[in-house]
Amino acid sequence: MATRTKTAPEDLNLNNIVSRQFEKAAAHVKLPAGLLQQIKLCNNVYYMQFPVKIEDRYVIFEAWRAEHSHHRKPLKGGIRYSRMVDQHEIMALAALMTYKCAIGNVPFGGSKGGIKLRPRDYTPDQLQKITRRYTAELIAKNFIGPGVNVPAPDYGTGEREMAWIADTYDAFHPGGIDNWACVTGKPLSQGGIRGRREATGRGVVFGLREAFRDPEALKKSGLEGTLEGKSVAVQGFGNVGYHVAKILHEEDGCKVVAIGEYDGGVYNPKGLDIPKLSHWFEDKQTVTGFPGATKTLKHGVDVLSLPVDIIVPAALENQITRDNAHKVQARIVAEAANGPTTTDAEELLLKKGILILSDIYLNAGGVTVSYFEWAKNISHMRYGLLQKRADAFQRTQIVSATEDLMHAKFPEKVRTGLLKGLDEEDLVKSGLEETMSTGYQEISAILNKHKKVTDFRTAAFICAIEKVGLAYLELGVFP
Ligand code: NAD
Repeated sequence: MATRTKTAPEDLNLNNIVSRQFEKAAAHVKLPAGLLQQIKLCNNVYYMQFPVKIEDRYVIFEAWRAEHSHHRKPLKGGIRYSRMVDQHEIMALAALMTYKCAIGNVPFGGSKGGIKLRPRDYTPDQLQKITRRYTAELIAKNFIGPGVNVPAPDYGTGEREMAWIADTYDAFHPGGIDNWACVTGKPLSQGGIRGRREATGRGVVFGLREAFRDPEALKKSGLEGTLEGKSVAVQGFGNVGYHVAKILHEEDGCKVVAIGEYDGGVYNPKGLDIPKLSHWFEDKQTVTGFPGATKTLKHGVDVLSLPVDIIVPAALENQITRDNAHKVQARIVAEAANGPTTTDAEELLLKKGILILSDIYLNAGGVTVSYFEWAKNISHMRYGLLQKRADAFQRTQIVSATEDLMHAKFPEKVRTGLLKGLDEEDLVKSGLEETMSTGYQEISAILNKHKKVTDFRTAAFICAIEKVGLAYLELGVFP
């Protein structure tokens, strides 16, 4: 009688997936015994259960804050609100933060937090109570503070929650001059920074532009030319996915042909009008039914199997798995989300020669600009305030002198561009581009040096592990 072989189910535990990614890279890094283990493991996890009175009920919430690495302080990482949050996920996301900061030369250790809840189930007032109580728990255990641990937005949270966190921290630390640096991703009017809202999406686009400037990587992926005209499908139309789609559509001439959301997707092979789709989504809370689409997809994840050049998973982890990896037709997977590709899926995609621009590099734009916001908050000064006018004056002198020498005038548009002094948004964009470009060059250099390392993620992990390792070697381990 024929026996049926059962395949073991795929391991979707994000902490195990990140550990495997780490181990694959660590095999190429020479560090003293035990140190690699220290770099991999999560230093502390604070698990809490707290009550919040919701109408006439007492609801108990489960929440976490994980501190992965203290080799640099403060620690940094987002706060996630989702029903799927658990300890493994938070620990894994904290580890990714350590590696992300190292690659982007952001001087922070990695952390992450989350509350197990679905924001849609609560009113704004109830969410405010929950957020403030969570912050109070973090304060009580010294898991938040400008020099200790600095949260930011992540899946299910945004500027609103960050403002509540800042205000709660301030209430517990009266007179603390740096209180507003206890959290980033705040509204502009509450110590936020221009460019933070779109920072992760813009960073993803900067990373993609770098890949399109790298002829070897591009050739291996089977693509050529520039981003202009390339077809793109994006899964997740929240903060990150929306900005990636918008910037690729408006600034790079890409055709964004599909957007997937929690309840389905929309597709138009000629390209979707992203600003119109965004208004539709804001209004209806769904992308489905959008009049500019020619086809509706049953599941948001289906956009990842479409015949496009680039797919951008920008929702959650474990979206490209053993079950759907064989359906991927794109040549580049741009990991805007954290952990969207499982270990088995990655193996399959790499065999097909698909370039995976991995999360620990590609979505580092958020933490990079958060770092700028934190530095702005502790300096109590807006970037560009002091130099903008002086800069514009100097530029006027140079432009006038050049025009006098040439006996000709610059075209008006060029002149306006040349004369404009640099403001905060320009400086933030410039710092973000520099960070994403340097990160790509550092990872490329590792790929060139280690002939046995052939994939981008492993090279990115090597880059991160070597930097964290060096910090431990230079500082020593106390006592
Ligand atoms: P968000 O909450 O703003 O948006 C997520 C979107 O995904 C929502 O619109 C949600 O409805 C949608 N979604 C949920 N399930 C889906 C599914 N199955 N298919 C398609 N869409 C689905 O969150 P965000 O801040 O954009 O974060 C998205 C991802 O990017 C997460 O993995 C997060 O960790 C990562 N990330 C975010 C930042 C940041 O600055 N916000 C920085 C780095 C990485």
